Amino acid sequence: MNVWIAKAVVLTATVVMIAIRAPHGRDSRRVKVIRSHKTPLETVILILAWTGFFIPLIWIASPAFSFAEYPLRIAPLISGIVCFVIGLWLFYRSHADLGTNWSITLEVRERHRLITQGIYRRIRHPMYSALVLYGAAHALVIPNWVAGPSNLVAFVVLFALRVHAEERMMLEQFGDEYTAYMARTKRLVPGVW
Ligand code: SAH
Repeated sequence: MNVWIAKAVVLTATVVMIAIRAPHGRDSRRVKVIRSHKTPLETVILILAWTGFFIPLIWIASPAFSFAEYPLRIAPLISGIVCFVIGLWLFYRSHADLGTNWSITLEVRERHRLITQGIYRRIRHPMYSALVLYGAAHALVIPNWVAGPSNLVAFVVLFALRVHAEERMMLEQFGDEYTAYMARTKRLVPGVW
């Protein structure tokens, strides 16, 4: 199959993702940060996430990773498109529910509310679930050993390095309310983990 089909799919998903995030990013930046937990580790995590995000775009635009190319097949392509659709829907829902409580890093904003409804009712980190699905979609759609897994690796590492610090921050901020929320929810997969 023609690799440009995969390139068109990845580019479309990237544009949709940016279109979902841009208005929420703009709105939440208007709300003052009252507590920042941005450690040097958080800076490393963000650099990693941006690297994972840009590698597929470099793959689309240049032959930089041509040494790692393999043939594109229909089954992984279709599975990847399904993961993109579910992942982007989850990403959209998480942003809609979090509203201006969202931050790209670990921060508490003025009038920060603990969101436990909507997509947050059964899992505490739906946006990270969405990002892992989005990364898996890249790995399935991109027929390249370097550019394919880059997003998935970046988001899995982001989650592993951040989740404990984020939950600690939420516990400090919301106390018993977050403890109760933790007791009745899972992290990434409803009812499982
Ligand atoms: N981990 C969440 C949110 C990611 S954005 C998810 O995967 O959906 C990270 C920011 O969201 C954190 O800085 C924190 O301030 C905020 N946050 C995380 N969970 C929240 C919740 N349940 N309610 C309100 N804000 C939350």
